[in-house]
Amino acid sequence: MATRDTTIPDTMRCVTCRGVGDYPHSRSTPVPSPGPGEVLLRVERAGICAGDAKCYAGAPLFWGDASRPPYVQPPVIPGHEFAGHIAALGPGASRDGGSDNDGGGNGRWAVGDRVTAEQVVACGECLYCRKGLRWLCAPHDIFGFHTCVPGAMAEYMVLPAKALLHRVPNSLTPKEAVFIEPLSCGVHAVERGNPQPGDTVVVSGCGPIGLGMLSVARTKSPGRLVALDCSEERLALARACGADTALNVATLGADAAVAAVRALTDGGYGADVYLEASGAGASVAQGLRMVRKAATFVEFSVFAAPVSVDWSVIGDTLELDLLGAHCSGDGGYAAAVNLLAGGGIPAEAVVSHELPLDEAVAGIELVNGGGRAQASCKVALDPSLRG
Ligand SMILES: [Zn+2]
Ligand SMILES: [Zn+2]
Repeated sequence: MATRDTTIPDTMRCVTCRGVGDYPHSRSTPVPSPGPGEVLLRVERAGICAGDAKCYAGAPLFWGDASRPPYVQPPVIPGHEFAGHIAALGPGASRDGGSDNDGGGNGRWAVGDRVTAEQVVACGECLYCRKGLRWLCAPHDIFGFHTCVPGAMAEYMVLPAKALLHRVPNSLTPKEAVFIEPLSCGVHAVERGNPQPGDTVVVSGCGPIGLGMLSVARTKSPGRLVALDCSEERLALARACGADTALNVATLGADAAVAAVRALTDGGYGADVYLEASGAGASVAQGLRMVRKAATFVEFSVFAAPVSVDWSVIGDTLELDLLGAHCSGDGGYAAAVNLLAGGGIPAEAVVSHELPLDEAVAGIELVNGGGRAQASCKVALDPSLRG
């Protein structure tokens, strides 16, 4: 069996994060070669995450501040949302390189296989890995942020021996394949919220992750699934992802939006589950007014600045189940692949742009709200395009 695609060039195009707002494109970076247990992936698509865009813009979560050290380690090739084809196998990678989600156990990878890998490359040794919480792994090596795990904004990338690979069915379009990671985050957030059949479930923020949450929540037989956003285009996508009601909180205003959601619930008590995916502080305060007592509030967002709310309502007024959700949990990737393979998830519409690698900065600026922000949702890079 060939362990290397004979068409691999010596050099490749890629984007490098060198600092805040400093993401140059190179046409002649050496193609990495896979070491023991590693896989070389020819990248088909790399999604630009809101996290990538916030890193580009200088968010303290990535660059550190008085209360935390920097997370990103420049220079590094960004990109943790991707799919591609195996171009080469390092020694031993066909037997024990990662694992897959098709029930076949570890390995068995071959050149030409279409795969993705979980965004967190877990160490397998820390407290969280030992507790079965690998997505919270302490070293927290996410592709594209730490130098030991260069990311997908390149023609080729290496999947380390500890990366957890998942097979991507050939029936998925490239846009569906690049939606696996955001959808897997939606799977985990909905798992945390644990909506029961008949519940009123609210998703605030209809970017790619919120749309993923809606798509997953739809499968839990909610009584009513409500989407909130400030963009009519995104609310239309929310309906396509299964929202029964899509409300524009910008045109309604906060008070009317709260009243509208409460009016949709049995007896006007308020929503059973609120999934926060907007990254806007106002959505937190709004959610606390929309939910009933003993509701579940799931926070997924990364915020540009600290959020202030009246914390006393968590206990005294609501006895709220307030939960965080991060990345994809244990089964997020496998569930996302299965959902996409089953059809009905409008990934073709969610992925609004496909750009060449040398337009990565323009893509990041689209995600950050520059120019035609209202018209962009998931922006993906296609390394085969020549800008
Ligand atoms: Zn992401
Ligand atoms: Zn770990």
